[in-house]
Parts: sequence; structure tokens; C-alpha cells
Amino acid sequence: MLNPLPPSEKRKQFELRALGLREFAGVAAEQPLDPFALAQFAKLLVVDFDSIEGLSSESRTHLLGDAANEWSGGACSRPLPNGWRLVILNPAHGKQRNRATLMEEVAHVFLGHQPNRLAVISRNPTVREGAKNPGRNPTVREGAAPNQTLARDYNHDDEEAAYAVGAAALVPYEALRRFVTRGRRASDIARHFRVSRQLVEYRIKVTHLWKEYKGASTSLAEQV
Ligand SMILES: [Zn+2]
Repeated sequence: MLNPLPPSEKRKQFELRALGLREFAGVAAEQPLDPFALAQFAKLLVVDFDSIEGLSSESRTHLLGDAANEWSGGACSRPLPNGWRLVILNPAHGKQRNRATLMEEVAHVFLGHQPNRLAVISRNPTVREGAKNPGRNPTVREGAAPNQTLARDYNHDDEEAAYAVGAAALVPYEALRRFVTRGRRASDIARHFRVSRQLVEYRIKVTHLWKEYKGASTSLAEQV
């Protein structure tokens, strides 16, 4: 039997790619996906924020304090000599959001996206404003050299696709629909897939399950 797919043509395409990623990872329909395991196949090396050299203590304090909500993480534009690229995740965001950020980077690689621009933009990490996906935070791109930051940009369509495919791989439609139909709460579904509640709500909305989700919660409330 074919997998049920979300209604819109665009989401169908994203879902098929996400299912390809899940199949590659060897996870069953309702099983959570571990982006850290997939990152290895994408030749992404996740490094601990604390091990970044060349970051002043002021920058460090700023990035984890006042600016903690303004960046989620990113991949270095320059590969290491062995072809791997470094990925830095914001430790202030917690594991669940880190998983979504890493999944987006993995999706860029698996979708074969090429950065369309590479530029030295500043001496210090620069927070890039990215209002492309509602509810999403801008990302910071950390350069390989200690005293400069390289910005790596994908075009708008690639950014949208990587985020959407990553989110769909983490919270696949078929299982999501089943959970929603059973009246499971977003927070509950989020715990199951080890992602944030916000990511689950985003998935419920873009796959047109919101009405059903609200309906299921209303009917459950009536039963009590
Ligand atoms: Zn991206």
C-alpha cells in the first residue's frame, strides 16, 4: 500500500523526499528519526559550541545570553580536508530544537543543494535575519578561519525545501495523522518524536491537519 501523503502538491514532494531520508535511515513509520546518526552519512561533523576557538568570551556570552534566541546553528561553508563540514548547534536551545536545526543541514546535503553565495562578512559571528519560515529563528554561520565569518546562503527555495523536508522527516505525515486522529496532543506527539511542540504544530498546520487536530481535542474535552 502506498503511503498517505499530505494534500498539497508541494507538501507531497517534500514528504516523498522526507520518506526517502527515513527509509535511508532505516526507521519504521512511527519511529523517531535521529538526525545525529544521519549527519554522519551527510559528512557533517557536529562540534560542541564550547570547543570553538577564536570566539571571544564576550561573543560567547552574547551568543548564549542576549542573542541566544537569534540563532539556531549552521554548517561551516568550507569543508575540512577530509570533505566533512562542521556544524555548530546552539546549546542554549536544547536537544529538541537542535535536532530540527541539524535535520535541516542534513536535508540540504541530501537534496544536493549548492550554496549560491560565499562571502566574508565580518570578524565576529553575525546573526543573519531570516524571516523565510515563520516561527523560525535566524541562523548564524560560523566561518572556518578564526577571525572571520563566512556566510553561506542557499537560495530561498532550497532553504524552504530543506527546512520542510527536515521537519517532515522528523514528524512524518502518516504517523502524525494517525496520532492526530487518535486525539493525541501536540506536546505528546513532540515527546514521541523528540522534537519541540512548535515543530509538531507547524507540521499539523502545513499538512492541513489543524482542523482535525482541533476537532479531536474538542471531542475529547466533551467526553470528559
Ligand atoms: Zn538552511
